[in-house]
Amino acid sequence: IRPALKDPSLIREYALIDQRWIQSDQVFPVHNPATGALIAEVSNLNIQDASDAILAARRALSSWSALTGKERANILRKWFYLIVNNADDLAAIMTAEQGKPLAEAKGEVLYGASFVEWFAEEAKRVSGDVLASTWIDKRTLVLKQPIGVCAAITPWNFPLAMITRKVAPALAAGCTIVIKPAEQTPLSALALAELALRAGMPAGVLNVLTADAEQSIAIGRVLCDSPVVRHLSFTGSTPVGRILMQQCAPTLKKLSLELGGHAPFIVFEDADVDAAVEGAIQSKFRNAGQTCVCTNRFYVHESIYEEFLNKMTLASKKIIVGDGTLVGVRQGPLIEMQALEKVKAHVSDALEKGARLLIGGKPSEVGGLFYEPTILADVNHKMLVMCEETFGPVAAVMPFSNEDEVIAAANETDFGLAAYFYARNISRVWRVAEKLEYGMVGVNTGLIANEVSPFGGVKQSGLGREGSKYGMDEYLEMKYVCVGGI
Ligand code: ADP
Repeated sequence: IRPALKDPSLIREYALIDQRWIQSDQVFPVHNPATGALIAEVSNLNIQDASDAILAARRALSSWSALTGKERANILRKWFYLIVNNADDLAAIMTAEQGKPLAEAKGEVLYGASFVEWFAEEAKRVSGDVLASTWIDKRTLVLKQPIGVCAAITPWNFPLAMITRKVAPALAAGCTIVIKPAEQTPLSALALAELALRAGMPAGVLNVLTADAEQSIAIGRVLCDSPVVRHLSFTGSTPVGRILMQQCAPTLKKLSLELGGHAPFIVFEDADVDAAVEGAIQSKFRNAGQTCVCTNRFYVHESIYEEFLNKMTLASKKIIVGDGTLVGVRQGPLIEMQALEKVKAHVSDALEKGARLLIGGKPSEVGGLFYEPTILADVNHKMLVMCEETFGPVAAVMPFSNEDEVIAAANETDFGLAAYFYARNISRVWRVAEKLEYGMVGVNTGLIANEVSPFGGVKQSGLGREGSKYGMDEYLEMKYVCVGGI
């Protein structure tokens, strides 16, 4: 059952290589996680197709990189407008294949589009440098050049924005790219590709390889093994990130990895508790808890612990769970059965080890892949929910009494993506922000991502930064030119 669209031709079931839609003999199904219904059957590509796409990207590289930044910006800007003008349809496709509520899906479309706009602007500002020479007869220059053919492997939780956040800087820099979207959500990627063609993207510049879980692994190998591919950008789980890094070692590819997180959210005694609750709900339950920057652990000062819990429970009761196309729904389904099983396992483990259940704690009455917004109080660090990424709508809350102790607890993890805290004392704000070992810190806010800011993690949460004025550097090489005989 397809979503009703103003422009039904945005639903594409074939892959895109070298400006041609590739229909393969093999197909794989795309299901709606809210209903289980079959939405589409998409071409299941193989390793030969992956090699073809890499070659197409290589053929396209010289002419695409030879354009001026301004010329590339013009095409990117057209793509941006097409994405924005088709935002309702793109949101409907996303809700159908991913499950997030329509309003959230539309938010992601606009967030995703913002990277295309931003990097279209940045395309004109890739500047080299002239350094002061220590030789009287020589001049020292730095050129910035596109790294070459790039590959992107993207996840299902942000089916559109995780593509534009990689593709837009790559294309702006003058690179060409091969994208392998998640098997659960290929339709958003293909709709984006259709709009890129309408924007005038030349053949081979942007290629999309669709594949099921098994073929994705094989295609991933081809992308990693290829010496032609000079950069791999991946967003997904830490274990898969490690595999890809290993596979890229023989060709010494440059890597951008956005991996898992285990975000702490600290509420100090000087915090505005109402604001903290609002930020907590935003950071925890967005996308049914399925974002890598979602809070996994709440630490609340003992003096405001019960107040925070009461207010958070009241606010969570207002979250309506259901099919994301229905008006008023704020939480959709989880992506698949395995995800639901993980959430159930984390909750039962916590309850067995003594957590106090305040709300939820079970699959929703809606059935299927829906799980109730859940709050567990009095948790401790022996529980799975406090050390593994839950990726579901479960808030685990623990009291603390002392600042140093809570900072140490927050940092006691191999992850280092996002952290949040609420406090009003300005010295504390600086102190804590500096001490948290995370790539991103939200202070008095639960929502931090936008195109202007560098998104990325430290420790085992990844490598590199996406978005922002720094995001283009991932796709550029520096070349030092020494001009002598002057
Ligand atoms: P998630 O937990 O979000 O599903 P994964 O890391 O499993 O994250 O998947 C993210 C992306 O990585 C998807 O596009 C998936 O197809 C791809 N992928 C998963 N395993 C591999 C692998 N071994 N090699 C290459 N790509 C993979």
